[in-house]
Amino acid sequence: MRALVTGGAGFVGSHVCEALLAAGHEVVAVDSMISGTPSNVAGIARHPGFRLLRRDVSTGLSTSLVGEVDLVLHLACPASPADYLAHPLETLDVSSRGTRSALDVARACGARFVLASTSEVYGDPLVHPQREEYWGNVNPVGPRSVYDEGKRFAEALTAAVRRAEGVNTGIVRIFNTYGPRMRGHDGRVVPTFVRQALDGEPLTVAGDGSQTRSLCYVDDLVEGLLRFASTDDPGPVNLGNPEELTVRQIARDVIEATGSTSPLEQIDLPADDPKVRCPDISRARELLGWEPKVRWREGLQRTVAWFREARGAADEGAA
Ligand code: NAD
Ligand code: UDP
Repeated sequence: MRALVTGGAGFVGSHVCEALLAAGHEVVAVDSMISGTPSNVAGIARHPGFRLLRRDVSTGLSTSLVGEVDLVLHLACPASPADYLAHPLETLDVSSRGTRSALDVARACGARFVLASTSEVYGDPLVHPQREEYWGNVNPVGPRSVYDEGKRFAEALTAAVRRAEGVNTGIVRIFNTYGPRMRGHDGRVVPTFVRQALDGEPLTVAGDGSQTRSLCYVDDLVEGLLRFASTDDPGPVNLGNPEELTVRQIARDVIEATGSTSPLEQIDLPADDPKVRCPDISRARELLGWEPKVRWREGLQRTVAWFREARGAADEGAA
């Protein structure tokens, strides 16, 4: 099989490319590097089955550019609030025009298409945990809407192209995922706290830290995503780890895992910050026989180990 992975040099995308190559497939990754970096795929750059193209998918993709493919995984989109707030229009573009061009490649090739959507389509949810049937509670004009509404549009487009043009599309709704290769400065809670703890800086807890998130280790997410890609199911299917934690607890666990003496510091809660988030993964269990295997403390240890190693390598490079 030959797969196109948009956003393939991002955090999740780079792990997806690796997993596809390890399973014996060929991969063409397309990435604009707006929030990704070639160093994420440095380990597979010389693999004979791998190609990385630096392109903005919002300005169009074609089979003459990427070649024939059997699978399109559309992951391109800034995903950290810090990134999509810094690039609001690019975020809307990649979810609209970018999704359209990725869908066009799938149609031209007769390929399976999978959209990486998000738990953010549920907004600040009034139903807890979130099932796929829930339609969400999103502020359409708030600062986060570029991401939330962008993904809601991408879902609508994906579903419409399946109905109108018969493309074999599917939608996964990914809940907060963490692990190696997240950037220490990407603004998301786990890499931010780990970097702060390792630097001896205060851990910046937003609001009173009572808001919850459910954190999935990246290897589990990739396994669920690839299992879903091998079906013809339209989704949406939630992929996430139902182990729900308060942000304050996440901060405490990071302090413990790093052995840091950093204090916690309260910062302002961002606008429209969801108060709770936890996936109901019954559908993924039934359809894919999938559930996360890596418990939070274990995934956190692995992530801290990676951050330590990456910093060691950077220090050696500088010396
Ligand atoms: P990321 O920012 O690390 O990766 C996104 C990648 O897409 C980056 O490499 C970026 O450069 C690339 N990209 C963005 N716009 C592009 C464009 N116009 N053309 C080409 N490339 C473009 O984020 P991530 O965490 O790896 O997220 C990957 C996907 O998974 C995103 O679609 C995101 O919405 C979705 N998702 C992630 C999470 C999570 O917790 N990591 C949760 C829900 C959904
Ligand atoms: N958060 C925090 N401190 C930080 C970064 C994030 O307390 O330095 C909080 C954030 O306000 C939110 C939660 O952690 O309540 C998860 O934020 P993240 O940006 O990782 O993801 P999202 O809000 O998209 O779920």
